[in-house]
Amino acid sequence: MSDSAGRGGGIRPEGVGEGTRAVRAGLPEPVAYEPTLPGPVFAAHFHLPGEPTGPYAYGRDENPTWTHLERAIGELEAPGRDDVETLVFASGMAAISALLFSQLRAGDVAVLPSDGYQVLPLVRAQLEAYGIEVRTAPTGGDAQLDLLDGAKLLWIETPSNPGLDVCDVRRLAEAARAGGTLVAVDNTLATPLGQRPLELGADFSVASGTKQLTGHGDVLLGYVTGRDAAAMAAVRRWRKIVGAIAGPMEAWLAHRSLATLQMRVDRQTATALKIAEALRDWPEKLNVRYPGLSTDPSHPLASRQMRRYGCVVSFTLPSRARAERFLDALRLVDDATSFGGVRSTAERRGRWGGDAVPEGFIRLSVGAEDPEDLMDDVLGALKTSSQG
Ligand SMILES: *Cc1c(COP(=O)(O)O)cnc(C)c1O
Repeated sequence: MSDSAGRGGGIRPEGVGEGTRAVRAGLPEPVAYEPTLPGPVFAAHFHLPGEPTGPYAYGRDENPTWTHLERAIGELEAPGRDDVETLVFASGMAAISALLFSQLRAGDVAVLPSDGYQVLPLVRAQLEAYGIEVRTAPTGGDAQLDLLDGAKLLWIETPSNPGLDVCDVRRLAEAARAGGTLVAVDNTLATPLGQRPLELGADFSVASGTKQLTGHGDVLLGYVTGRDAAAMAAVRRWRKIVGAIAGPMEAWLAHRSLATLQMRVDRQTATALKIAEALRDWPEKLNVRYPGLSTDPSHPLASRQMRRYGCVVSFTLPSRARAERFLDALRLVDDATSFGGVRSTAERRGRWGGDAVPEGFIRLSVGAEDPEDLMDDVLGALKTSSQG
């Protein structure tokens, strides 16, 4: 890891609350007449006299703007731990690919969820093309437990996107580690304020920073946080040879956005729960899923391992046509993919063809609008769309 002096600009991340940690995460020690968060460093190369040691040589390998962001994410994913390293990437998929393809070799076995992010089936095909055996099982019911025998790596996505099932990270990680299997958790939906996979026993927390972590729908970014130095060296090497690096502007925007992470997540989570309750109590049966809903099948487990339940609510309308009318009738919620932003979005997930969901399945991402306005908009559109 690079020089870790000045973590948190003089605070110990483990000694403060989460909001304080978020606003100060990764800041360098104050320097007179310099900004609090130094601006993005645009550099393909750095002055490099003599031997090519030193922290910054070439822009594909290292960048000071990444360093600040990597420290910040590390403080949120694993507060107070100095044995953890974070690497940022151009996107969530760049981070996921870097981890999987740097750790797995021909003949290895990987266990993936069967209901995870929609690009995972493409990843699976690529892993198989390289001679890696891939086994899959659903997230719910900890079904991946039965597939661990002889596996090199277990990939967990909880809550799963878009189905919002939850699995027991501690239980899966314990079983996996007993058999020498590495454990990675996709922490995109929860964010490090919703759950901290390393504390639950995982070796890696991997996420798309494109979603709620940055929260404004204007940046693609990804990261891997891990505690095994040798494994992280391989991830770093993969970043260097593939070159899927974050732009300095994106890294800086992401870091700036972290300062509001707790406010955004708290606000969006509180509104998501209200909307999930209203949808559950709606006269039509909508099969609402939200891990924070006391009646959700995932809730008992989610309440043990999550500290916040996130901003995504899913539900199912009776038909594709009804779902399309619902989306058309919304005024404050954009029909768009992705999730986690301060502006609410919703989509009929079946339009992509990749997820095993009914035609009328809606994934709603609750933003930071006034809760009453959003509630009126969503319930109003439900009503309007029912008069087909
Ligand atoms: C969006 C997403 C990804 C991929 O992230 P990108 O930044 O779009 O590459 C991976 N996992 C989950 C759960 C996601 O929602």
